[in-house]
Amino acid sequence: MVTGASRGIGRAIATELLSLECQVTGLARTAPAFERDNPLLTFEPVDFSKLDNLPDKLKAIHKTTGDIDILVCNAGLGRFGSLEEFSAMQIRELIDVNLTSQILTIREFLPGLRRHRGHVIVIGSEAALAGARRGAVYSATKFALRGLAQSLREETASCGLRVTIVNPGMVETDFFNALDFSPGSDPDCHLTASDVASAVMGALEARDGCCLDEINLSPQKKVIDFGKKAT
Ligand code: NAP
Repeated sequence: MVTGASRGIGRAIATELLSLECQVTGLARTAPAFERDNPLLTFEPVDFSKLDNLPDKLKAIHKTTGDIDILVCNAGLGRFGSLEEFSAMQIRELIDVNLTSQILTIREFLPGLRRHRGHVIVIGSEAALAGARRGAVYSATKFALRGLAQSLREETASCGLRVTIVNPGMVETDFFNALDFSPGSDPDCHLTASDVASAVMGALEARDGCCLDEINLSPQKKVIDFGKKAT
């Protein structure tokens, strides 16, 4: 199961898993426009900003999919600015989508993941490792995801479940469409979604007795383009 599978990093991870003939369930608001005819890919529409009915929705999805072996918590959005520029609604949406909904998804599937000695992958960020200007709320969600991953790793080690957090630097995806900055266009200045998917596959393919707890990856050069207009 991949949250935020419709595009970007989630799409790249789903594509890698499908290439290994894994059965993949993608969760997002919009149906993926890739692998449409692939019977191994199913899509469940979910809006992670609507927390009220999310536990029931996840339970219903669980009934359809049954237990799963791998959960990739990837769905997320970026909003950046000084803290006082955020409305209460915007703060809530960031926390609901990036953090709370991912925790609720893990909670729903955790008993089966434990039984199957499965793997939880959390897509964090370099913003999970260090705060930066204009990133207070986003970073807060990503630091929290790192705490979640570390705690879950400790809590579930004895049953054979593996937990990995992957922290990418800037990745060229639609994430930046609504933002007033983007990574540099030179290939040395951004990661690709496939770079992140390869890191995820590395964690998944480690032998059972070995857990890659945390993977940090970043573009060779840190170049940020502040010249663009948000769309
Ligand atoms: P993206 O291309 O914008 O994709 C975001 C994914 O999250 C989409 O599939 C989107 O699906 C889903 N999503 C967003 N809001 C949602 C909602 N309310 N309900 C359900 N699904 C929702 O961005 P990306 O770069 O692939 O980002 C994926 C993850 O990587 C995020 O957690 C992000 O924080 C993290 N990350 C990104 C970067 C970067 O530089 N791009 C760096 C570090 C970490 P729908 O819109 O169809 O719902």
